[in-house]
Amino acid sequence: MIPWIKQDIDKLKTDNLYRQLREVSSTQGREIVLNGQRVLNFCSNDYLGLANDERIKTAAKNAIDREGFGAGASRLVTGNMSAHMLLEKKMSQFKKTESSLVFSSGYMANTGIVSALMGRDDIVYSDRLNHASIIDGIILSRARLERYPHNDMEALERLLKDAPQGKRKLIVTDSVFSMDGDVAPLSKLVELSRRYEACLMVDEAHGFGVLGTNGAGLVEACGLENDVDIQMGTFSKAAGCFGAYVCGSQLLREYLINHARSFIYTTAMPPVIAAACSCAVDIIQQDNDRRENLYRNVNYLRTALQKSGYNTAQSSTAIIPVILGSASEAVGLSQRLLEQDIFVQAIRPPTVPEGTARLRITVMATHTQDDLDKLINVIKSC
Ligand SMILES: *Cc1c(COP(=O)(O)O)cnc(C)c1O
Repeated sequence: MIPWIKQDIDKLKTDNLYRQLREVSSTQGREIVLNGQRVLNFCSNDYLGLANDERIKTAAKNAIDREGFGAGASRLVTGNMSAHMLLEKKMSQFKKTESSLVFSSGYMANTGIVSALMGRDDIVYSDRLNHASIIDGIILSRARLERYPHNDMEALERLLKDAPQGKRKLIVTDSVFSMDGDVAPLSKLVELSRRYEACLMVDEAHGFGVLGTNGAGLVEACGLENDVDIQMGTFSKAAGCFGAYVCGSQLLREYLINHARSFIYTTAMPPVIAAACSCAVDIIQQDNDRRENLYRNVNYLRTALQKSGYNTAQSSTAIIPVILGSASEAVGLSQRLLEQDIFVQAIRPPTVPEGTARLRITVMATHTQDDLDKLINVIKSC
């Protein structure tokens, strides 16, 4: 018997914060079967529609035949297989960095990188809207956390100015923010990191595959490949796979292999996952049409919502928030959309600030014009 858990669950329920799993019984795509209901999917991070791509499936099947399934041990023991090395080589070429290192997930990459680089006497400057995995990495590191208001470069500069002499400093930011769909002011962050001798880390989880001419991310889009010390990103979103990378110097790679606990003390990702990721990276680099379709859809939907008077905040990416205000409004609209076979998640406080409850729409390259029109019409009619 665990006496406190029922109390907790009851409280979540009365506070309307109780969460539960839904079951998807189809493959991933613009349409899914959710709890037995066929719905249009506006909640996926699979922006390019690669999660069920035939080329990736074939690459994975071949990899299983060639390399088997499990990796058998951690990378530092006998789990480091050719598929991992090939993916890392591909990523450093793609990102134009000296080197790269693959982690089993974005969550593990962020907790591992931040806690390896920073310690008790150091200071981490973190955007208020950064992903939970970054926050958890900072907590693990025991470093001092200086949280600056979202994208507020003046506030960040004030904090940097106030730092005691001789401290190690790390500025860390998402490139695309997951609840607002806006992007970090990267050139200004580079400038501040130089001026105040802080390292700069960018999390491209929602940027990789969708931003930049070749899809390498916001750092590519801004031409700052040589100015960001640590480029982290995931294969779990636009790449439609699983796992994460960090790109940077050869020394960074060596340092993380020796110090990142979420790299050292875990079994290597199955080689089939690494092979699937490699195939996805090839597709991302070669298939510009997907990115073009995505942005055509994004621009169409955002413009239509704005014309109808909806507040889409500062979104410029495939994540489009529709800010409604109260939690009940957001939940109500999400419910009515679901009755019309459209799935869009409502996001409530404390995930977002009080008074900014919202629908969080994510657009895919594979959505059709009809899909988008249906969504717009149903939102308007509700
Ligand atoms: C999704 C996400 C992660 C975690 O990546 P996983 O591969 O899903 O563990 C990290 N950072 C950001 C900004 C994310 O959106």
